[in-house]
Amino acid sequence: MYDIKKVHQASSMNDVLKIMKENKEVKILAGGTDVLIKMRERKYKDVEIVSIGDISELSGIHIDESENIIIKSATKFIDIINNEYIAKHLPTLGKACNQIGSPQIRNIATIGGNLCNGAVSADVVPILLVLDAQLHIVGLDGKMRIINVNDLHTGPGQTSLIEGQELLVEIHIKKENYVNFGFDYYKYGKRNAMEIATLGCAVGIKLNKQKDIIEDIKIAYSVAAPTPRRCSSIEKLMIGKKLTKETINLIKPENIAELIPRDSWRASKNFRLQLIKETGRRTALEAIKANGGELCID
Ligand SMILES: Cc1cc2nc3c(=O)[nH]c(=O)nc-3n(C[C@H](O)[C@H](O)[C@H](O)COP(=O)(O)OP(=O)(O)OC[C@H]3O[C@@H](n4cnc5c(N)ncnc54)[C@H](O)[C@@H]3O)c2cc1C
Repeated sequence: MYDIKKVHQASSMNDVLKIMKENKEVKILAGGTDVLIKMRERKYKDVEIVSIGDISELSGIHIDESENIIIKSATKFIDIINNEYIAKHLPTLGKACNQIGSPQIRNIATIGGNLCNGAVSADVVPILLVLDAQLHIVGLDGKMRIINVNDLHTGPGQTSLIEGQELLVEIHIKKENYVNFGFDYYKYGKRNAMEIATLGCAVGIKLNKQKDIIEDIKIAYSVAAPTPRRCSSIEKLMIGKKLTKETINLIKPENIAELIPRDSWRASKNFRLQLIKETGRRTALEAIKANGGELCID
């Protein structure tokens, strides 16, 4: 059923890099909740895997002296959900993680796996996009490169990571990208549990002191284009605008050039166009509330 040639148990990040260097075709396995499904579907055959799920150096969350949040790539969703700092300062990230799969999946699956798998429906991606998260990726030579999460997804199921030659190490969220913002994430699916998103939307909003003008807004969608996308076209339209119903109603597909929803067995293109509008507006309203604002009556 699982056509595995060899399992390498790595004990440190350097060990992973060494194993990858010596075995060109080796596949990284973190929680295995995507990899093992693909093996079962015979998409990977006669495969060598290197397991990173138990490497303590690659797991955990800490806050640096500048209050940036650093999440190690093999941190399990359950540990993000239960992290006190995340619960206090970034509850929307916990909310997105808490909607993934089932308790069994959240107990084993990792944030790094969710990113590196490249799925267009990955639940952590929209919120990481609006947080402008930075990904720290190490190559076989030990050199680290840093990319914005916006530059990770290159196509459905594809990423800019060089398979077998790069390891995602950390996800960094800078203080300036979460403090003073209100966030929300809306996952539309036909069921509440064990359901991947038909469409997902995350919004981060920063209002002025009087809470009546949008100082900054960041909007991202999943399953509304071939890759999860930040939508700067609508962001530009809304920045500086008064917090009115009219401004919120700007969120509609006609104003979001980045999105190209399509028909799939899960939902039609027309239904997704409707979801872009509805989830966008609802998520924006919740993010406004989280930032202490409410719509002005003209
Ligand atoms: C029943 C079920 C329900 C699910 N429900 C959801 C859901 O609701 N929402 C959702 O978003 N997903 C869902 N998933 C998909 C999956 O659980 C997530 O994508 C999960 O985050 C994958 O993490 P993992 O640690 O298991 O990754 P793995 O399967 O171990 O790896 C996934 C991919 O990432 C690569 N990889 C992992 N870590 C690294 C790293 N540090 N550096 C480089 N490459 C790496 C692997 O080589 C592989 O290609 C579900 C899966 C199942 C089986």
